[in-house]
Amino acid sequence: MEVFKDQVYVLTIVPYRDSDLIINFLSRRNGKLAAVVYGGRKIAKSTSFPFQPGELIEMEYKKTENRDFVNILNTSGKKGFSSEQFAYERFVFHSYLIEIVSKISKPGLPSDEFFDLLDEYQRYNRKSETQFSIIAWVLWNILKSGGYQLDISCCHQCDKSSWKMNPDQKPVFRKQEYYLDYDSGAIICKDCYQVSYQTGTLSAAMLKIIWLFESADSYLDSFDDLPSEFTKSLARLLNSYLVKRFEISPKSLSAFSGILNSTV
Ligand SMILES: [Zn+2]
Repeated sequence: MEVFKDQVYVLTIVPYRDSDLIINFLSRRNGKLAAVVYGGRKIAKSTSFPFQPGELIEMEYKKTENRDFVNILNTSGKKGFSSEQFAYERFVFHSYLIEIVSKISKPGLPSDEFFDLLDEYQRYNRKSETQFSIIAWVLWNILKSGGYQLDISCCHQCDKSSWKMNPDQKPVFRKQEYYLDYDSGAIICKDCYQVSYQTGTLSAAMLKIIWLFESADSYLDSFDDLPSEFTKSLARLLNSYLVKRFEISPKSLSAFSGILNSTV
């Protein structure tokens, strides 16, 4: 049995028995773990668990090797956020993101990628408007961490390159419409498209955004300038692909889809 002192993200909280809770959380070193919080449902008691899914807290816990259920020794945390601080869209996406991470993270595996992603998303704290570029960027990275990267270099059927470098080292994309094959993650140009494919449409502008994402290590402020009509379409496409690839149906998907499909 080993004691860990770790920062963890609370993923889910489920009532258990009369006064207890079962929580799932994501730890950087041990991946997804679960624990019973005894007396966690009691209100305003020393045992009560005051945190919400999505919060980053400090936790001390005892873990036996190969077991995903741990014993919590201590929790503490400053309130990282409250739902009132969020614009509605941000709140919905945050809940959706936590639900996805909860569904696809695994016990026993270090989860640096998810942790970094959640950290970066938390740090990014614009309130004014929905930023579809950060949403698209986060979805893109979740796909990458699952090994479902898109191959946008060429049409999967005719092998024609989708872009080339111009003399100033800037990518120039072919004026062509592409389709993303949800089964393989490959793109197919309009000339090669067959109706039997399960696909979403990709414009040259969306391909360029993916190209920009691929060439950056972290979310850069320069992505803010990307036109939201394209980042929104891209977020929609990546999300359809993600749900299909990971074979998940998150409860908050319909709320999130509402934002992706809204016209304002
Ligand atoms: Zn083609």
